[in-house]
Amino acid sequence: MTPTSAARQSTLRSSNLALVLRTVCAGGPLSRADVAVRTGTTRATAARLVDDLVAGRLLDEGERLTPPRRGRPATPLLPGARVGALGLQVDAGLLAARVLDLRGRVVAEHVEDDDLVGSDPARTLARLGALTADLVAGLPAGLRLAGAGLALPGLVDGDLLLRAPNLGWTDVPAPDLLAAQLPGGLRPVVGNEADLAARTVADTAPGRPGPLRDFLYLSGQIGIGGAAVLGGRVLTGSAGWAGEVGHVCVDPDGPACRCGSTGCLEQYAGRHALLAAAGLPLDTPPAEVVARAGELPVRRALDAAADALGVALAGVVNVLDLPVVVLGGHLAALADVLRPGLEELLGRRVLSARWRRPTVLAVTGPPAAGATGAALQALDAVVADPVAWLP
Ligand SMILES: [Zn+2]
Repeated sequence: MTPTSAARQSTLRSSNLALVLRTVCAGGPLSRADVAVRTGTTRATAARLVDDLVAGRLLDEGERLTPPRRGRPATPLLPGARVGALGLQVDAGLLAARVLDLRGRVVAEHVEDDDLVGSDPARTLARLGALTADLVAGLPAGLRLAGAGLALPGLVDGDLLLRAPNLGWTDVPAPDLLAAQLPGGLRPVVGNEADLAARTVADTAPGRPGPLRDFLYLSGQIGIGGAAVLGGRVLTGSAGWAGEVGHVCVDPDGPACRCGSTGCLEQYAGRHALLAAAGLPLDTPPAEVVARAGELPVRRALDAAADALGVALAGVVNVLDLPVVVLGGHLAALADVLRPGLEELLGRRVLSARWRRPTVLAVTGPPAAGATGAALQALDAVVADPVAWLP
């Protein structure tokens, strides 16, 4: 074989391995014969690629199924349960570390609620590093961590958190402050919290698309993050700073925002702003807000939040043509009381609503969806290029 054709063979093998892994992640459990059909390769080629992925633990063989008719029982193939990734999150209201495996299952997690508004970045990240080190020390033996991600509620540029208004952090080299405490030389890839949380809606597991492909995701925290998703991909913008729906102005004469502007959406629908307007303590759980929705000050605060959401989101939907708005975080827990006002406004303000009225859905998963999304992103990198993880 000439060097050129050897290189070509190696590239072909890499892309075939990625195709097989992606196929099982998207549609597993599958047999080797199913893999051959779905990837359009011969049975012998599919079997060889599968064997390589099984040897590298990126695929697992399940228990053989008894075939419905005569013939050899097929061995079901599943994404590897011994390959995982670490997802971390710092938000103004919590610290989180979560480990997901290649099947998208939570292997271990630790979430701590705390008020981190105006906290010291180095001290906070050291605390996250310590709780992550404890979490990783308790992982099942034989689990390999393939990567790590860190979700932060602000503008990110490469390794640098440029600004997170609600944390009060500027120019924080987050991976540098964390890496020393993370095991095995893991260095987290930093991403925007809402962009990462939106991935947990777009994909239900690494490489496995969920039912929603086009939507606007809102992450309801102390602030409000956002991400527009088209065709299953987050629209990140030219510098990665798109989706800041929380800082869309709904009233220029409105209250000052931590970002320096006035009347931003999060000054009406952010968790603290809404509770303050309702006259409730800032640690009131959303369920209590729902239970007290009949009380006048609470009702007024919820109406103001729904109005602000309606104005801001109608603007986004008019620009981007998104059929669904997905509410996450505290907004998901409040969806039933916000939805009537919000949907009514979207129906009135979205130009195309007569033909397709935007729908409002709520995702009520575990807290810290950004941490889950950060782990998903790291595992997606394994699915995209499995050859790097093979012996
Ligand atoms: Zn703002």
